Amino acid sequence: MIFNFTDQTVVVTGGTRGIGRGVSEAFLAAGACVIATYRSNTAAAEVFQDANEQYEDRLYLRQFDVATHVDVVSFFRYLEEKFEQFEILVNNSGIRRDSVVGMMAVNDWNDVIQTNLTGTYHMSKIAVQHLMRQKYGRIINITSPIGRFGFAGQANYAASKAGQVAFARSLSKEVASRNITVNCVSPGFIDTDLIADLPDDQKKQYQDQVPIKRFGTIAEVARAVLFLADRESAYINGAVLEITGGL
Ligand code: NDP
Repeated sequence: MIFNFTDQTVVVTGGTRGIGRGVSEAFLAAGACVIATYRSNTAAAEVFQDANEQYEDRLYLRQFDVATHVDVVSFFRYLEEKFEQFEILVNNSGIRRDSVVGMMAVNDWNDVIQTNLTGTYHMSKIAVQHLMRQKYGRIINITSPIGRFGFAGQANYAASKAGQVAFARSLSKEVASRNITVNCVSPGFIDTDLIADLPDDQKKQYQDQVPIKRFGTIAEVARAVLFLADRESAYINGAVLEITGGL
């Protein structure tokens, strides 16, 4: 184990599936207490919980929608009552609703922005109120290189992911004097449910675009998150760490 998060409490949104699950498990393996949140897939959450039974004394699951402000407020009320403090927030929950702009349903625009970007704001807003009192904290947003490059059919997703970076850079300047850093991890193509619906020939085409010629693993992304969350990473602030195989 390279990282040691014993005595630290971590909130991972969308922490029960895909990249978020990998991040939750990496923190658990490094000794942290983890609160993994999810929106609706209770079956996946139970699978995750069962697989991590050995950590039952420091693994907690909460179900709520990061896009709904009142849900987020009651989550933080729970957090405050149950835990003396928490140090790390990973804004990982995210969705895609792909369509070219000319055909994009208003709901598909709103849902993606509301979940990926507004959800990040909802969570970070209340988190910083706690972290500023503690004079220590780490916030990490999981963004995407699509926010930088753009991608046909993903204008809503790209805008939400670029927004997460701009949000992190601004927030990082507001809270830095309290020993709180705010950074982003930007994974390239990672094999999770989020891209499971892509046809095989399209997946192959994407893999060929990656200089390393393969999709990344969840563990490779989780490692970057733990690196940024480490106490020793104190001078990395407002940064975007790309885990893309060189895209
Ligand atoms: P998955 O679809 O595998 O998992 C998404 C997670 O987010 C689930 O736990 C889901 O909960 C949760 N979630 C979704 N919407 C909400 C909401 N409104 N409120 C609370 N939780 C919610 O996604 P990935 O693991 O692939 O992606 C994780 C993050 O990484 C996303 O932000 C994504 O944009 C980003 N990313 C992914 C890449 C990839 O190639 N996979 C590449 C670059 C970035 P539930 O289980 O209940 O549905």
